[in-house]
Amino acid sequence: MADLEQLKRDYAGLVIRSGLNIQNGQRLSITCPVECADFARLCAAEAYKAGCREVLMRWRDDELTRMKYLCAADEVFDCVNKWEVDYLDTLSEEGAAFLTIDADDPAGLSGVDPDRIKRAQISSGKALEAYRARMMRSDCPWCVCSVPSKAWASAVFPGLSEEEAVERLWKEILAACRVDGGNAIQNWKDHSDELRKHVDILNGYNFKSLRYKNSAGTDVTVELPEGHFWAGGEEKSGTGVFFSPNIPTEEVFTLPHRNGINGTLVATKPLSHNGTVIEGFSFRVENGKITEVRAEKGEDVLKNAISVDEGASYFGEVALVPHDSPISRSGVLFLNTLFDENASCHFAFGEAYPQIEGAENMSEDELKERGANFSMTHVDFMIGSEDLQITGITHDGKEIPVFVNGNFAF
Ligand code: ZN
Ligand code: ZN
Repeated sequence: MADLEQLKRDYAGLVIRSGLNIQNGQRLSITCPVECADFARLCAAEAYKAGCREVLMRWRDDELTRMKYLCAADEVFDCVNKWEVDYLDTLSEEGAAFLTIDADDPAGLSGVDPDRIKRAQISSGKALEAYRARMMRSDCPWCVCSVPSKAWASAVFPGLSEEEAVERLWKEILAACRVDGGNAIQNWKDHSDELRKHVDILNGYNFKSLRYKNSAGTDVTVELPEGHFWAGGEEKSGTGVFFSPNIPTEEVFTLPHRNGINGTLVATKPLSHNGTVIEGFSFRVENGKITEVRAEKGEDVLKNAISVDEGASYFGEVALVPHDSPISRSGVLFLNTLFDENASCHFAFGEAYPQIEGAENMSEDELKERGANFSMTHVDFMIGSEDLQITGITHDGKEIPVFVNGNFAF
């Protein structure tokens, strides 16, 4: 591998240039764990080079977050500080860019009262509704990327020393992001163009529904809304620039019809959610609503997650990822959704990205009418496998293979 320090700079450059496409005079808000401050500095340096007006930091720390859930006054979890709402509203209204550097300990909140986590999520979901809607509509460019923290790397590679685990996780992250010592930005552009090919084919078929089946037990039919479209790789922001919301990404995705999912979805990978690892879980779904939940581990956290509001028990995303995607082939279970969702076909329960033609001119009621789901949450979970079959059904009743044995049929 080329010099790791140089590759980290290349990755920061990729995140700032392709992930956010920072413009002259634009402000940038970075959310980052204190442990990963060196990477935040690389991103800030790159942003200033690109003409960023001001970098604003929101520091995080797993241990302090855990301490707060364990020790803070109980009423804290039912309110949100006004200055925090003002901060996010002001920046998103002016078209700032938002970078999240995610390095959470996958089980950092295990054992914390799940009720406190749920209440905190509900209060911030309500207080930050306007900000969240702007992000879901991509009014501003935003990007999520990841760098190793010691706790995360050790959870992924328990057999290695802390130092070795961090180095190995860096290697896996850089490989997944195609940062290989060559031209990271050009590699990313080529990859985005590849994703675009599948997007165009899927949009060309304009499927009425998709049927999923595999030996893990998933057996489900998913109706797609009229006028839906698929997306993947780059998106265009309300400020008129192309950006990549996730680095890495391997998915092409759209929204299901809110009331149009019927059958069983069985997870094929654990899900780290709200600092807890949920394992061996499945959903029974009727007319779009989750009617039964099972989990071998973390069932209470999962049940809370799908009940933060009404829309949390409906679905907001169907995403296709080949079983032979580079992240999947690495064989690493990252215990981090940014990576694991890009190794596997997945769904998300909760809010939909409004990927319906003409959505920008529709009211919330009109979007609901068309089948878009609304919620304060959006949680991806993985259901892909090497034997997953997906069949697309067109509006004139033709059946087209979309996935055969876990990979695209076209
Ligand atoms: Zn996704
Ligand atoms: Zn998602």
